[in-house]
This record gives sequence, structure tokens and C-alpha cells, in this order.
Amino acid sequence: MQAGTGGTTVARHPGSDGPGLDAPDLDVVVVGAGFSGLYLLHRLRRLGFSARAYDTAGDVGGTWYWNRYPGARCDIPTTDYAFSFDPELEAEWTWTEKYATQPEILSYLRHVADRFDLRRDIVFDTAVTAARWDDGRHLWEVSTDAGDAVTCRWYVMASGCLSVPKPPDIPGVDRFRGDVYFTGRWPHEGVDFTGRRVAVVGTGSSGIQSIPLIARQAEQVTVFQRTPNFSIPARNGPPPPERLAALAEDREAYRAEARRSRGGMPYEVTEVMGATADEDVRRERLEGAWQRGELFGLTGVFADQNVNRASNALVADMVRDKIRGIVDDPAVAEALCPTTYPVGTKRPCLDTDYYATFNLPHVRLVDLRRQPITSITETGIDTADESFPVDAIVYATGFDAMTGALVGVDITGRDGLTLRDHWSAGPSTYLGLMSEGFPNLFMITGPGSPSVLANMAVAIEQHVEFVTDALADLRAAGYDTIEPTPRAEAGWNQHVADCAAITLLPGTDSWYMGANVPGKPRVFLPYIGGVDRYIDACEEVVGRGYLGFTRSGRAGTTCNDGVVRRMQYDVMLLLEAMDALALPPLETLGAPDARGLWAAMSAMAPPGPDVGDIADGTLPGPTGPLAYRRYRPATPGPHPVLCYFHGGGWMLGDQTADDPLCRDLSVRTDSVVVSVDYRHAPEARFPAAVDDARAALDWVADHAEELGGIPGRVTVGGYSAGANLAAVVAQQARDAGGPHLAAQLLLCPVTDGTTEHPSYVENGEGKMLTAGLMRWFWDSYCDPSDRRDPRASPLLGRLEGLPPTVVVTAEFDPLRDEGVAYAEGLAATGVPVRHVVGRGQAHTSIPMVDVVISGARVRQEAAEALRALADTPMDVATR
Ligand SMILES: Cc1cc2nc3c(=O)[nH]c(=O)nc-3n(C[C@H](O)[C@H](O)[C@H](O)COP(=O)(O)OP(=O)(O)OC[C@H]3O[C@@H](n4cnc5c(N)ncnc54)[C@H](O)[C@@H]3O)c2cc1C
Repeated sequence: MQAGTGGTTVARHPGSDGPGLDAPDLDVVVVGAGFSGLYLLHRLRRLGFSARAYDTAGDVGGTWYWNRYPGARCDIPTTDYAFSFDPELEAEWTWTEKYATQPEILSYLRHVADRFDLRRDIVFDTAVTAARWDDGRHLWEVSTDAGDAVTCRWYVMASGCLSVPKPPDIPGVDRFRGDVYFTGRWPHEGVDFTGRRVAVVGTGSSGIQSIPLIARQAEQVTVFQRTPNFSIPARNGPPPPERLAALAEDREAYRAEARRSRGGMPYEVTEVMGATADEDVRRERLEGAWQRGELFGLTGVFADQNVNRASNALVADMVRDKIRGIVDDPAVAEALCPTTYPVGTKRPCLDTDYYATFNLPHVRLVDLRRQPITSITETGIDTADESFPVDAIVYATGFDAMTGALVGVDITGRDGLTLRDHWSAGPSTYLGLMSEGFPNLFMITGPGSPSVLANMAVAIEQHVEFVTDALADLRAAGYDTIEPTPRAEAGWNQHVADCAAITLLPGTDSWYMGANVPGKPRVFLPYIGGVDRYIDACEEVVGRGYLGFTRSGRAGTTCNDGVVRRMQYDVMLLLEAMDALALPPLETLGAPDARGLWAAMSAMAPPGPDVGDIADGTLPGPTGPLAYRRYRPATPGPHPVLCYFHGGGWMLGDQTADDPLCRDLSVRTDSVVVSVDYRHAPEARFPAAVDDARAALDWVADHAEELGGIPGRVTVGGYSAGANLAAVVAQQARDAGGPHLAAQLLLCPVTDGTTEHPSYVENGEGKMLTAGLMRWFWDSYCDPSDRRDPRASPLLGRLEGLPPTVVVTAEFDPLRDEGVAYAEGLAATGVPVRHVVGRGQAHTSIPMVDVVISGARVRQEAAEALRALADTPMDVATR
């Protein structure tokens, strides 16, 4: 332990301990003295908490203490990758480069430590080895490898996301007799490679940064590459003038914008979709990203590149073309081209002359996918085909990211639960900050926080402020413990997973997924929703009385339990975008204008998937022909037939209005979908639409074979008001003894004209289909006196003997409860029912093909349920 660094001079704030509780040695113990630990110490001190930090390192700096390899630099511009909490600190520090070197960042962090006199509360060269929660005394007992034991009320792991280097998993790794270096534990005195033969294993960010500089010295460099990375030129130089100018003009506004951005720094957010943009727009944006030399430039060329493979491929192709343009040897160029994963799904890199380095005669690339390493030997590295004698091996093999340092300490929470066991299937946190069962344990940039996907300086500052403010609030309110509830934590984990699931990222074996560490559970670790959304969630949690946290102490116990984000991320974005359009409510427009707006919005929707063929036609209705559109799958027929009725409150739309949804249903259910129009209100009121739907169903059933379908395998379905018609005509078909229906598919159905279910109140506003709009639809369609007629409210009809049914409901839909009631009513009478719950969905989001990506899961589940039900021979479908 380094003398003179321990101890604290800050008195514990009076009143921080509850009656009868032992006073701990310290209010707070902090693990780590990097960006996080330093700012924590400073804030805690200012708030009057006693605190001490421990670090295995011999000085402050964390990442920038350890990673001293040649070429080590930040890859977020240093104008942004710095503390912003103190304007004077900012004013007195000048960065010399756009991307500062490791020594410069380390000097900066040393300066911060000196300026705020932080070292006196830091114990260096000391690892925290264990921490145990004492539930009786409400404190943590913390032990170190120096044999110290200290108690504290609150314990903060500021131990870093990328602080535990991953040991190379290569046979014979201990046999090598030459020099071995790890980029994450580089010797302080530096390394001179002059005249030496050097092997570099690993081509992640550290490898890509160091290889060009090692090659400048070494006699021979052999790079062993398992997976090539996407890298673009950093174009380093002086700090970007436009960022400096923006800062000079209004520092506070610039920093505020950083916190209101997805990545934690101001940058252009485009709405250009790669999938649909014109060729010249694409070219300009792609070249711009290459020239700009910023990570977020590469990951944000197109708005859809992280969710749409075709769009992503444009960016990936651009980088590959550039690699081919730089590297002379075509075979080497191909080996350096990443081809097995979308760009951005592993952390991309910024480099200086990386690809050009492979044109040097003394630099060789060994593609481990073609010739894997069989063993490290005493003198070098053997692959299946060759031996590579070397004098030194540099391992740039990455980190046990996000969880390594956390589970590296033997942390035991309440009832003997260890963090390692609690996280054995993957980490579980609330906001990436705390984990249930571990009261008063905080993590800075823990799993479930934006951290590694963002400018971490901003992420860290926000976390530190959340934690320290939470402690101050606890103290002020007379509480001494805080812990998330199981419900809040499960909700956050779900939200983190849901956000990731709509992107391409979880599909790639990356360290974001824990895939680089053998045996590590595959869970998408960071929160991909963005710094801005994350901060919104944190602020909402605090604003709602620490929603999802239990706080207790001498003031008693308080808990406002709940889930802070239940709505799907893309549904949230959709509702916000619709809100921003400030369109007039449809019910204020009158039917003709409402129809015009509806049609215009439908026309803007992406087309949906390709189907085999589409044909338009008419069929005889009770008062004249009814138009229909038929979608046939590309697979060989004949197929089951789905007779479909569109949504639009019985007033809007036509047989083509739900085109993307019909294509999607055709593909997912492998059915011929026949979307039939019907007469609309208010011109044709109830029961005109029912009569048309009934005629259409009869005709489709009679003509199934001509339509490319299997006779007798007809399903009736629809969306919203169309699902209401489907449910009604299914009841009529049963009562009439035909046509026989294989199943019914009811997507967010209207089943009850009372409009009084609780979901009308819960979701009646702000979610596109409002209670007001629904009432307008009802009033336009059906007299109040007719609404108890089962042809208007099928929920009030007889439910026995109906065909097997798939009911889809959306959590944030005014119609949710009547859909649920219909599913429950059918099940109660013995009808086979699959109720697919659109968790986090709104009424309008589920059919929004290729707009609301999370809706695809719901449609897929519905399609699978439909196939399963319809494939089961059912006698109950006919009377
Ligand atoms: C090479 C490299 C480049 C990076 N570049 C960028 C960048 O450009 N932009 C960006 O946003 N982020 C970057 N990062 C991420 C970087 O880790 C964070 O930006 C930031 O430095 C993290 O600060 P921290 O204090 O949270 O953690 P760290 O800096 O990792 O500090 C954690 C400290 O905790 C100590 N510690 C851990 N466990 C224990 C224990 N049990 N006992 C005692 N001490 C312990 C460690 O020794 C370490 O010193 C980079 C990371 C690396 C590795």
C-alpha cells in the first residue's frame, strides 16, 4: 500500500447513520481511481461524505494508467472526452490534438487529481478483493489484498468497463521464452522494438492503434488476425475547429447538447435511410464518413444502418472498397476485409495508417481463419502450416468487458448471495447502477448503462451525479439503505434487451455480447437506447420518488415500485415522431379529409416484404362489387387462405390500405391473403360493413381454389375495426353452418361498443388511436342503441363453437382490454385460443411493417400460433 494516500479528512455528515446502527469507518468506499473514481471522490467530498478510493494501479488514471502501448489514444474527440463539471477546469486545460495520446490524457487526469487534492483519499497499489453486506448493521465490510478491512455504508464499484484484460486463450501461452507484452498492462518505461521480430496477436482497437507504430521500429512484424475489424482513418490533428468554436460560443449549451445526444457528444443525426436514399446522396454521405474520421460518423451514415442489413451493407462495402484501395496485395486486402458481421455490431476503430502498414515489406498478416494457431512455442508461434519464430509477442486480446471487474471482487450481498451467482446467467441491474440483493452497492457504467456505446466521460459524469445525488437524498430523508426492487430490475433488463433486439448488434459475436470470453453468458451488455434516453429514464426515476427503489432507515421504508420503461423503444420513437408532426386529430376533420390524411400516411409507409404475386379484383357484394387485393406467397401452392379486413374505424382505408401488413402476413403465415374492401361509415352505417364482410367471406371460401388456396382451409382475420368484422362474420358463419373456418386471426380487435374498459382510460391519450377518435368511429358507424348487437360487439355474442382463434392485443392500446376479454371469453367456452400479447406495443405499432421493428416479433408469434392452431384438425370449428 502506498503510504500517505489512505485515510480521509472529511468528517461524516451528522445524521447519516440510523439509530442503533454502527457507524461505519467511512460513508463510502470507491473501487477505482480513473475518470469515475476521481469524480466520485470530488463530488462525495463536496457533499460532505467521507470516502476513500482503492486502486490496484500505482496512480490515478485507470484506463489511461494501464494502456501505455504505442499509439494508445482516445477515439472520441478530446474536446468531448473530458470532464465538464467544472468550467474553470475546462478553461485551464488545452488539448493539443483531436484525439489525445495516452500520456496527455493521463496528465489531464493527474491534473484533475492534483487540482481537487484527491490523492489523499486514494489508496494505490491495493486491490479490493472482497465486499460483504452486513444486513444487521446496514454496512459493507470491504477487504483488500493488503489485509485491510474497512466498513462503509455505501460501496461504489468505479472499477471500469474495460479494465480487466482478457488472457489469451491459446495453447502453450506460457511456454514462450521471449518478451511478452499485454497492451492493457504495458510497461511504464516503454518498449524498444528496434531490430526485433514481433508478433502481434489481436486486431481490435489496441492492435489497430499499436501495429503501425510497432512496425516503425521492429525488424519484422507478424500480425495474427482472427476477425478483421472495420476501421476508418482518425485524421488526427489539432482539435476540430468547429467543436472548439461551438464550445467557445456557448460552453454550457454544447455540454447540454452532449447530454441530450445518443452518443454523449453533439453530432449530426441523419434521417437519410440507406435503403431508400438516392445513389448520389449515399455516395456523398459514405465518403463524408470516411473523410470525417469520427466513430459516430461511421455508425451514423444512415439512420437505418443499425437495423437494416441492406443499409448496413452499403457502409460495410464502402469500408471494404477503401481497404482494397489502400492495400497493394489483393489477397492481404481481402483478408483484412470484415465480411462476417455488419459494420458497427463490433466496436469499430479509428486508425492512423493501419491498412497501409500491410504494404510494408517487413509486415505480414496471418489470417487465423485460414491457418489457426496450434500453439505458442518457446521460440514463437506455430500455425497448422508454418512456424513463426519471434523475439517478442504483443497480446492485444481485449477485455472481459463490463462485468469482469465487478465479478472480479468477491461481492456478497444479502442472505449470502454472491454477485457472481446472481449474474451466472448474465448481469441483471436496474439502470446499470444497482442490483437487487445488494443494497447500497452502486456500479458506475455497469451493464445496462450506455457506457461503452457512448462518450464515456459524459456517461460517467451522469452516473456519478446520479449516485451522489441519491446518497444526498437518502441522507436528507433519513434513509440509510437503497436497493432496487425485483420488478424494477426485471423491467430494466427487459428494456435493455428489447432495445438491443431491434438492432443488428445482438446477432454478432462481440464483446458487447460477452462472446470474447469463453463461458461468459451471451447477453447484450450495454444499453443501446442512448445517453439522452438513459438520462430521461434516470430523471423520471428520481422525479417519481425513486421509482423502483426501496429506501429505508430511521425514517421508515418507502418504495414506489414500478417499471420505468415499458413501452418498446421504437414505439416510443414513433409516438414522438407523430407528436412532432402535430397533425390535427382525425375526429376534427370530417370523414373526407380524415380519409385523405389516412391515405397519405399509408402511402408513406415502407412497402413491406415481397410476395409471389399480387392481383386486384372484385367480388359480388350485397349492394354491388367489392374490391379485393390478393397476395400470394412465393412458395409453391396451394396455400391456406386468409380472408382479411382492413382497419380504419369502419370509416377509413380500403383493400390496399394495409398493404405492408397483408404482405407480411402472407409471408409469415405462408397464406394467400385476400384483403376485401367493405362499405364505410358514416355514408353506410352498421350493419352495412358486416353484410359486405359476410358476403366476402362466403365468396372467398367458395373460390379458395381459384385464388390459389386449399379449399376448406380458410381463415378469417383483420386488424382493429377489420378484426371486429372478422369476429362478427366468424360468429355468423358458425351460426349458418358454414363456411367452415380453419381459424380466425384478430389483431387488436374492437369487440365491445361500451368503450368503458380501463384501457380506454390508461391509453386514451397520446398513442395515436385515442379514446376520442375511437368514440368518433363508433358514433359514425353505429347508433348507441345498436351497440349491444353482437354484430357490432361480438364480445356480447355467443362464443361457443367458434374456430380456433389467435387474438393479438397491444399493451398500450385503448382496445387492449376488450381484446383480452374476447380471448378469455373464447377460452372459457373451450375454443382453442392463443393470446399473443404485444408487450410494449401501441394499437397502431403492430401493423407498422419495417417502421416499428419490435412489432415484427408480435406478428411472427401470431403467425406461428395461427399455423399451429390451423394445422390442428378441429371439429369445434363447425357446428
Ligand atoms: C485503450 C482504450 C481506449 C479508450 N478510449 C476511449 C475513448 O476514446 N472514449 C471513451 O469514451 N472511452 C474510451 N475508453 C473506455 C475507458 O475505459 C473509459 O472512457 C474511462 O476511462 C473509464 O473510466 P473508469 O474510471 O470508469 O474506469 P477505468 O479507467 O477502467 O478505471 C478503473 C480502475 O479501477 C481499478 N480497479 C478495478 N478493479 C479493482 C479492484 N478490485 N481493486 C482495486 N482497483 C480496481 C483499475 O485498476 C482501474 O484503474 C477506452 C478504453 C481503452 C481500454
